[in-house]
Amino acid sequence: MPRASHDGLSLDPLRMAAHGEAKEGNVDARSLEAVADALAPGNEPVDVKWRIEGGRSAEGRPMLAVHVEGAVPLTCQRCLASFEWPLARTTRVLLARDEAELAVLDNESDDEVIDGSARIGAQSLVGDEILLTLPFAPVHPDACP
Ligand SMILES: [Zn+2]
Repeated sequence: MPRASHDGLSLDPLRMAAHGEAKEGNVDARSLEAVADALAPGNEPVDVKWRIEGGRSAEGRPMLAVHVEGAVPLTCQRCLASFEWPLARTTRVLLARDEAELAVLDNESDDEVIDGSARIGAQSLVGDEILLTLPFAPVHPDACP
């Protein structure tokens, strides 16, 4: 299966937050290494739309809002058939200015925190958000067919 050879678009989180910049795109969820393992097997591309928007939290802290939208195939743990799991989620990710601040924020906040001073690949951020939306033990939402 072909994998993306790089991490796609590289982002400068603190700059995006300071300027209120947004980036968006599409990614094949099967090309995201961590996510691919969680999906039902198959070869068809799994298109997920993403948007990452810089801004400030209510507390005035730099943050990114990460939005993912689409549907991914999962294997039902009850009947082992695959079914489509809808994705529609926006998560806020707080940005620390350095590693020391990262440690403090990580303790204080329930939100996800990353070191905003380091560049990060859009795809790895999007991959993390997709993983967070996936159920630990996926089953058909109603009865199995
Ligand atoms: Zn099922």
